[in-house]
Amino acid sequence: YVGKPMGEVIADQLRKMKVKDYKSVPVVVSEGTSVYDAIVTMFLEDVGTLFVVRDQAVLAGVVSRKDLLKVAIGAQDVREVPVGLAMTRMPNIIVVTPEENVYEAATKLIDYQIDALPVVRVMDAHNKQLEVVGRFTKTTIARIFVELGSGRDI
Ligand code: ADP
Repeated sequence: YVGKPMGEVIADQLRKMKVKDYKSVPVVVSEGTSVYDAIVTMFLEDVGTLFVVRDQAVLAGVVSRKDLLKVAIGAQDVREVPVGLAMTRMPNIIVVTPEENVYEAATKLIDYQIDALPVVRVMDAHNKQLEVVGRFTKTTIARIFVELGSGRDI
C-alpha cells in the first residue's frame, strides 16, 4: 500500500465487495397490509424499513418508521389505513442490484438520505418490474466496517 492514501485503499476494498455477498433477507408486506400490522411487523422482524410488494415479490414501494409515525399521529385509524397509502412508491424507489458494489450502495444511502435499499433483480425488462431479493442498509455498512476491523477475511 506504499504511497496510496488510506482513504483510497479503503474505497478500493469496498469497490471489490459485491452487494450480493453482504445483503440481508428482505422483510416484505403487501400493499393491503394495515399500518397497524406493518408496525407490528417492524417490531417482530426488528427492522426499520419494510418493502411493499405485489404478487409476492414485485417491488411496489418502501415504508419507513417515520412514514408509519406520520399516519399514527394523524386522525385516521391505523387498523384501517393500508400501508400502500403511507409508502413511497415506484418509480421513486432507489434500488441496488446484486452486482453493484458496496461503495456504490453506500453512496446511494448517503446521497438520497435513506436508511435502506431494496436489492432487486429486473424480472421483465419491458415492464421494468423489479423482484425484491434482499435488503442493504446502514446497519449492513456498519457490519462491514466491524468485520474489516476484525481482520477476518471478508
Ligand atoms: P425514516 O423516514 O424513518 O427516517 P428513511 O430516512 O429511510 O427512514 O426514509 C425517509 C423517507 O424516504 C421516507 O419517506 C421513506 O419512505 C423514503 N425512503 C426510504 N427508503 C427509500 C428508498 N430506497 N427509495 C426511495 N425512498 C425511500
